[in-house]
Amino acid sequence: MEIVPGLHQLKTPMAGPALPYMMPYAFTGGDGVSLFDAGFGTPQAIEAMTKELAILGYAPTDVRRLFISHAHPDHIGMASWIKEQAPDCQVIMLEREWQWIQARWLDGDAWTRLSDGWLVKHGIPQEDIDAAHEAGALSPTAPAVKPGQATPEKPAGGPQGGGGPGGGQGGMRWIEPDVKLQDGEVVEFDGWKLRAVWTPGHTPGHMCMYEPNHRLMFTGDHVLPYISPNVSLHADQEGSSPLSDFRASLKKVSSFDTRCALPAHEFTIANLKSRCDVLLHHHDERLNEVREAIGSGETSGRVISQNVHWNTGPFDDFNIFMKRSALGETLAHLRLLEDEGRVERIEADDRLLWRKK
Ligand SMILES: [Zn+2]
Repeated sequence: MEIVPGLHQLKTPMAGPALPYMMPYAFTGGDGVSLFDAGFGTPQAIEAMTKELAILGYAPTDVRRLFISHAHPDHIGMASWIKEQAPDCQVIMLEREWQWIQARWLDGDAWTRLSDGWLVKHGIPQEDIDAAHEAGALSPTAPAVKPGQATPEKPAGGPQGGGGPGGGQGGMRWIEPDVKLQDGEVVEFDGWKLRAVWTPGHTPGHMCMYEPNHRLMFTGDHVLPYISPNVSLHADQEGSSPLSDFRASLKKVSSFDTRCALPAHEFTIANLKSRCDVLLHHHDERLNEVREAIGSGETSGRVISQNVHWNTGPFDDFNIFMKRSALGETLAHLRLLEDEGRVERIEADDRLLWRKK
């Protein structure tokens, strides 16, 4: 679908049933084609991308730039394949996101070990984690990569939805970006002008991009028209508050003069500011719900997660990835409530419990 002359909204399939597709955006011009996000690295997504580019008169070898909103596999998964097809293509993301990839995903099994201990600390039984490991569901991630070099091929990983509890990162082929942007930096090409807008929350280095001539905001997973993106506090984020980051990032994109917003899932957002207001209100209500779910005593993150409502079903029915994601969401809310002086944490016997204030 052509959004404005030379800018096209594409579709590539997701790997799971939660969301049917993600939407890359293609900028066409004399200097080949540039993409904002691409899709999963699955054969199905690659085939779809090849067909979509062919309709526009291009081949994968013509891709000159690939902007990445964030490092979830439905956004960055195809990057290494595109780089193989078009070695001169510049892979571009925020430096902050690359730092996060390195710290979490390229340090052997450090993240898995840290995360396992953290799950236990918040009340997930060790047996559940052991069972997940036996089933191969919590396998270590890929080894480190050199600039511009993809990691060895692995089978495609599980689903990773843009909203609600998502899947894991197994099977990713990571690639170091050629260009690491800072917040506010502008990239100009072929008559297009894209400004990087750092929007931490969904991931620490999530990037939206603003196009001033047509007043368009590419929102990645930061703002979606119907679902609310997963915002989680995880084992490696102690000391940060992803939900307060997310709320500030909603206010940040709201402040741009935007004609419409182009998200990575679902459909075009006609009024970005009002959608951001709805999301802010949703989290205000969720903060109250999470606080009430603590009850009258001292309660673990797992039990609080069991007590709140999930659109995707009861917490106890989730697989281990979804539990980790849902627990992370609960904890993101608890962390913000703690900052607001409405709850307090109690650390005892390697366990972390929460109490209302
Ligand atoms: Zn996504």
